[in-house]
Amino acid sequence: LIAFLLYLFYLVAPIGQLVEGAVQLQQGLAAMTRIREIENLPGETVEVPPPASAEPVGVRFENVVFRYGDDRPLVHDGVGFEVPPGGLTALVGPSGAGKSTVFALLERFYEHQEGTITVGGRDIRDWPLGELRGALGYVEQDAPVLAGTLRENLLFAARHATDEELRRALTRTRLDDLVARLPEGLDTAVGHRGVLLSGGERQRVAIARALLRKPRLLLLDEATSQLDAVNELRLREVIAEVAAETTVLVIAHRLSTVTNADRIVVMDAGGVRAVGTHEELIGQDELYRELAATQFLVT
Ligand code: ADP
Ligand code: MG
Repeated sequence: LIAFLLYLFYLVAPIGQLVEGAVQLQQGLAAMTRIREIENLPGETVEVPPPASAEPVGVRFENVVFRYGDDRPLVHDGVGFEVPPGGLTALVGPSGAGKSTVFALLERFYEHQEGTITVGGRDIRDWPLGELRGALGYVEQDAPVLAGTLRENLLFAARHATDEELRRALTRTRLDDLVARLPEGLDTAVGHRGVLLSGGERQRVAIARALLRKPRLLLLDEATSQLDAVNELRLREVIAEVAAETTVLVIAHRLSTVTNADRIVVMDAGGVRAVGTHEELIGQDELYRELAATQFLVT
């Protein structure tokens, strides 16, 4: 039962909240240790059911209106937007524009009041919640690396991934160099009691963790931490490679991520104001031009 509750909690909470929850559950004990104990209780399973399909799914927002509360901010889809299956779509816009809310609505952390959101051509209200969240991979902004080994960090939500799947996730996220450099490879303790990883490495670990669950749509809230040139290039390569196989929706904080996106959704004041490629938007959208001029879409 505990494992089941933890599993439900995992489904509803981003990993950061899960860590907080676990820490509250068992103060003083490392979250990872606790998770391992719970998972090892006999007779319990916490596996996400195997997805019915691995095909990438598209997304459509149609006349969506959402209020955080009666007098709280309104988020809507403005001109609306549609993402076909596969490829890279970037969400950009100033702080408070509504980018994270788009992700929260897709994950159904919140319910929109009006309009329709579809994933894979199906209204998200018609998806069984577990199945919907199983189809989505969600990489939080500045996703934490938990206490424990790198292997545990990666297999945390995909315990039955094979060595081959693990190896492939590491290659795709360009983490093989890191593994080779660590004293005990995948079994090196990382996080606050182990080897500290750079911001770029942490984000790639979070992406690898999400990829091991074989998402049909990857939601990536790009880290705002400064990356060195090598890590910035690596992240760009990783995103491009993942977008060649599945649908990627990235909340972008740096211009280098968006310039080769298939489409860019520009948000402002809770709504979508324009959709296009970098070249199109530079020609057409004043806000996008301003954001691009700063190079860093800091939000
Ligand atoms: P962005 O990710 O583009 O910075 P958000 O989606 O986080 O924007 O926020 C959009 C609007 O909704 C902002 O005005 C923000 O203050 C508000 N908002 C975000 N989260 C909440 C929340 N949990 N409760 C109330 N208002 C919120
Ligand atoms: Mg945000």
